[in-house]
Amino acid sequence: MTTSTVFSQGPLGDLHRELTRIGRLRQALALLGWDQETLMPPGGAAARAGTIGDLTEIVHRRAIAPELADRLSAAEAEAQAVGSAVAVAYCREARRDHERRCNVPPELAQAIARTASEAQQVWRAARAASDFARFQPCLEQLLALKREEAQAVDARRAPYDTMLDDYEPGMTGPRMQALVTAVKPTLVELVARYAPRMGGVRADFMAGPFPVGAQQQIAREIIAGMGFDLQRGRLDVSTHPFCSGLATGDVRLTSRYHESNLDSIFSVIHEAGHGLYEQGLDPAWELTPYGGAVSLGIHESQSRLWENLVGRSAPFWTHFFPRLQALFPAELGGVTREEFLRAINRVQPSLIRVEADEVTYSLHVMLRFEIEQRLVAGELAVADLPAAWREQMRALLGLEPPSDREGVLQDIHWSFGAFGYFPTYFLGNLYSAQIYEAAGRALPDLDGDLARGLLAPLREWLGAQVHRHGSHYAPLELCRRVTGQELDPACYLTYLQHKLTGLYG
Ligand code: ZN
Repeated sequence: MTTSTVFSQGPLGDLHRELTRIGRLRQALALLGWDQETLMPPGGAAARAGTIGDLTEIVHRRAIAPELADRLSAAEAEAQAVGSAVAVAYCREARRDHERRCNVPPELAQAIARTASEAQQVWRAARAASDFARFQPCLEQLLALKREEAQAVDARRAPYDTMLDDYEPGMTGPRMQALVTAVKPTLVELVARYAPRMGGVRADFMAGPFPVGAQQQIAREIIAGMGFDLQRGRLDVSTHPFCSGLATGDVRLTSRYHESNLDSIFSVIHEAGHGLYEQGLDPAWELTPYGGAVSLGIHESQSRLWENLVGRSAPFWTHFFPRLQALFPAELGGVTREEFLRAINRVQPSLIRVEADEVTYSLHVMLRFEIEQRLVAGELAVADLPAAWREQMRALLGLEPPSDREGVLQDIHWSFGAFGYFPTYFLGNLYSAQIYEAAGRALPDLDGDLARGLLAPLREWLGAQVHRHGSHYAPLELCRRVTGQELDPACYLTYLQHKLTGLYG
């Protein structure tokens, strides 16, 4: 029996139809969210919050329905009987999603949603006023609720592991700590070695002005070259860049444009990296847990691979730099490709994570990981967060934030209870270097292709190796299959060292 027959009738077919229906409701929610960030007028906010709240509740009820549990059990039995690896993995993902939701009592889920929504408002005000004390009670409450949720999901596991598992299935706090410990000293050393040299790097031309129309033009040319299909996707403007995969045929990217810099180029490449993953998922399974991206870490590996390993590399700009010069003749006409490369790869400790360079970025993430792990374990009190933050910033980046606004209050994540989310940014960096190394072995003339503007071979390889599989393989297993080895932080360090030596000596 073929996979498609199995899923068209019987218990597996029943389950698949119901999960697809739930997926369609989630798609509607995602579209409401996309609209809220791009087109909705401010006056729509209150009504939209109500609609999203009600629809979320409907989806949740449907996803925990006892009938779904019955369908799931019947489908699991059939999957075992037919012995199909796809059917077994399909049920595993469906069960994971279902149980996680069922184990959380509805009152607790509601309390978390309510507190998170309030905490976000309070966080915004506290950040604007640089007043951590205002945010502290909300964060304490939210942290307590999230701990309770983790206990409800799995009382046998450490709460932080359960939180991490939500974003990166299979990852644990100790394993994450081992990766951090393996990488941190070298990163600190690289920053100490290279940051002092940046004074001699020419970067005056990076301030523009770069007309926005021309930035949008090069952004479109680059994503077209990457193979992001605009018949199955869009590129719009929003305050914070993001990618929303509504379906494999409807993937929406956003970016922001400022005349004073070229950040839009890298943010568009980044989001298009996410977008290629979403467009590359197998449409046969779309809208189901099995058909979606496997983890945030793997998702981030795709965006970072394109943004940093490709988008900040010499071969890539061999093709695109002349085009960039043609679009910005006044600013870049007298700049060489090598000067441009040195400028876009500068290593400079800074206070704000989202503005950090490729090397210091991971240090920002490690700081958050180590702090949130201690918070969740009860080893650090919320009241002591600002001090812990300042101490870590000094230790890792040699900087002290002049205010909490530029310190502990800068990120939105904790304000909506997303503990365990930050590490996926670091994992993305590790995976991206290891996957790119494997791509280089599989595509012997990868650099030559990039220099000729041929990005399709890389995209196709990533599609076949990573995108197509959806959630069939767990992240660490996928990494093993794609690269032939366990997740190894050495790849990331080798890549950085090699790159920095090449650029700055
Ligand atoms: Zn990203």
